[in-house]
Amino acid sequence: GVKKNYKKVRSRVMTYDTENIFAKILRGEIPNTTVYENEYVLAFEDINPQAPIHILIVPKGPYTDMADFSLSAAGEEQVAFTKSISEVVTIAQLEATGFRAIANTGIDGLQEVPHYHLHILGGGPLGPMVNR
Ligand code: 5GP
Repeated sequence: GVKKNYKKVRSRVMTYDTENIFAKILRGEIPNTTVYENEYVLAFEDINPQAPIHILIVPKGPYTDMADFSLSAAGEEQVAFTKSISEVVTIAQLEATGFRAIANTGIDGLQEVPHYHLHILGGGPLGPMVNR
């Protein structure tokens, strides 16, 4: 039932790899092109852009993916993260033309970097949502 599944999720082992590339970026060990930053969030340009505008929004806390963040991050971290989306969208001038937000997660989502990040893509037509 629902309760059983919920318990399963709560006890899921989330091992955060402190040597992942975004952890290094957050520690300043690897340079980045910052678009927006506040106490809880860093947004920077993707090194291998998949659209004319491709920005990654990253929480500064050690969360492996979107599900981990939504389960474990404090309320103020989650509010700051959500509000940073509008900051980035404004800075990148995406309001008028629109954008797509993607959070690749785990094996099926083909997540490469095990630190939660939201892709913001725009600046031109983006094609179908999912390749099949
Ligand atoms: P994922 O596949 O995990 O959703 O996305 C990881 C993203 O991080 C990819 O789009 C990749 O281009 C980007 N990326 C990987 N390494 C670096 C890096 O060192 N700097 C920046 N700015 N982006 C990176």
